[in-house]
Amino acid sequence: MTDRPRLTTTAGAPVSHNDTSKSAGPRGPLMLDDYQLIEKLAHQNRERIPERVVHAKGWGAQGTFEVTHDISRYTCAKLFSRVGNTCEILSRWSTVAGELGAADAERDVRGFSVKFYTEEGNWDLVGNNTPIFFVRDPMKFPDFIRTQKRHPKTNLRSPEAMFDFWAAQPESVHQVTILMSDRGIPRNPMHMHGYGSHTYSMWNADGERFWVKFHFRCQQPILNWTNEEAEALIGKTRESFQEDLFNAIERGDYPRWELNIQVMPEAQAEEMPFNPFDLTKVWPHGDFPLIPVGMLTFDRNPQNYFQMVENAAYSPSNRIPGIGFSPDKMLQARVFSYADAHRYRLGTHYEALPPNAPKAAKVAHYHKDGPMRFFSNDFGNPDAYYEPNQYGGPVADPTVAEPPLRVSGEIGKWVQAEEDIDYVQPRKLYKEVLSEAERERLHRNMAAAFHPCSEKVKERWLAVLRKVHPDYEAGVRAADKALSDKAANAIPVTARTPMEAAE
Ligand code: NDP
Repeated sequence: MTDRPRLTTTAGAPVSHNDTSKSAGPRGPLMLDDYQLIEKLAHQNRERIPERVVHAKGWGAQGTFEVTHDISRYTCAKLFSRVGNTCEILSRWSTVAGELGAADAERDVRGFSVKFYTEEGNWDLVGNNTPIFFVRDPMKFPDFIRTQKRHPKTNLRSPEAMFDFWAAQPESVHQVTILMSDRGIPRNPMHMHGYGSHTYSMWNADGERFWVKFHFRCQQPILNWTNEEAEALIGKTRESFQEDLFNAIERGDYPRWELNIQVMPEAQAEEMPFNPFDLTKVWPHGDFPLIPVGMLTFDRNPQNYFQMVENAAYSPSNRIPGIGFSPDKMLQARVFSYADAHRYRLGTHYEALPPNAPKAAKVAHYHKDGPMRFFSNDFGNPDAYYEPNQYGGPVADPTVAEPPLRVSGEIGKWVQAEEDIDYVQPRKLYKEVLSEAERERLHRNMAAAFHPCSEKVKERWLAVLRKVHPDYEAGVRAADKALSDKAANAIPVTARTPMEAAE
């Protein structure tokens, strides 16, 4: 008898055989009462859950957040009530368009999500490695994602669809510029900034509201791959982000990010020359300097990837008292759609799964049955199963209510155009932030991406670039022509075999 733990069924009963099936004889047939065999086959058939429609390929780590600066004048959130407060965190970083098996080092925006397990419940910041997004109106989100996914007939990704969409949606040029810049292929998740991207709000103990943007400033150098480096890397491994992140944490090289906020007093939003709730705009650092808040340190690899990372469900709807929403249209849609995606993908009670269940707060709700009801709503009295009740069940606490949003002007309108202001920030990025060498690489990266498109789509997109800056259009046009010239001048390969080529 071995001293190793005894193998059991899922019901805890010991298993006698796990290497051979029970059969009538050495040549079979098998016996239907071999429950261990049936259970193993049945489990294998159910090992997959629907992959995320976006952000399917991801990498995760656990760690700790520590408050280093006092921001209690902006928020009454208990997490920020004292310098030195800490909470556990779980992050998931991801690509957006690629499927679960996609290569890590692809040119794409990266998801950057953090779950803070606070004593007032879980707070999720569900952002990206870019401070902005492609569209500002959620009505366009499903269309945009469709252009990033496979064509219904060819089953291939379609540059024609991507640039056709972007050309008709010029607000996207800001994000496309970042995507095609050096930062479009980070070295791995540890060498990129993160951004909450949306405008959120905070309110303090006096009920005073501030608009806020969240920034995760990378404490490791910002490092990126060029297209050529990424191609060579993907030829060797498709899992470079997972390998780098996992191995760094195992080695004790713990990645860190500093959480910062930009703050805008509530009334100032009215005076801004651009819409501060537009997800395609940043708040300039010169006007809204970064205010340090705390440090995130990731020092643990999850013991089980599927349990903690694939099952992780982040949603902007998870916020805590003192942190609120804003009129940002994309944020308002995500408050619905992210939680809804998890209900579909993981099940009704997805918040009870280990990565999602609060660790420092007690859960007390009246939601009832459904898949994964493996917890009890035990309020100490079985009669307290609806609300209001006279049996001491939990009650809502109006003191944690977010101050009401003030809406100016008319409501119930379909507003889209933002005019020339959409080009101001991409112009600043292009002309003032990027160096000449970075601009050159941007031209080449963009030309490489849109080279397969039709001339009609190319011209429409070049017209958008011209509005950002004539040099931008000229640079991409020249890089595209260089690609065409290179293809035209390539010596045709007529030899079919290496032997023929050698002759
Ligand atoms: P700043 O000069 O103060 O900031 C420029 C920012 O751009 C820095 O955060 C810098 O990061 C970042 N950056 C540099 N290269 C790239 C790149 N290829 N892709 C994305 N970000 C990059 O200027 P402003 O705040 O006035 O903003 C000017 C423009 O910079 C904006 O229009 C926007 O396009 C871009 N930007 C602005 C951010 C903001 O929140 N204000 C955030 C990120 C970009 P680092 O410090 O690591 O060099």
